Amino acid sequence: MPMVKIKCPKTGRDVPTGIVMDLDTFQSVTFTNNSVSCPYCGEAHVWSKPDAFLE
Ligand SMILES: [Zn+2]
Repeated sequence: MPMVKIKCPKTGRDVPTGIVMDLDTFQSVTFTNNSVSCPYCGEAHVWSKPDAFLE
């Protein structure tokens, strides 16, 4: 099952959000102001649907 990820704005690395879902669900779901603790730069990144991708 793919995981929802975002790009770290500081390091450009892929940050896993811990959310796992299939593509159909991902396309229909809405994310707004989710927060993820980034393992690369140590900050919390707030993200919404346009920032997210499946991998
Ligand atoms: Zn980061």
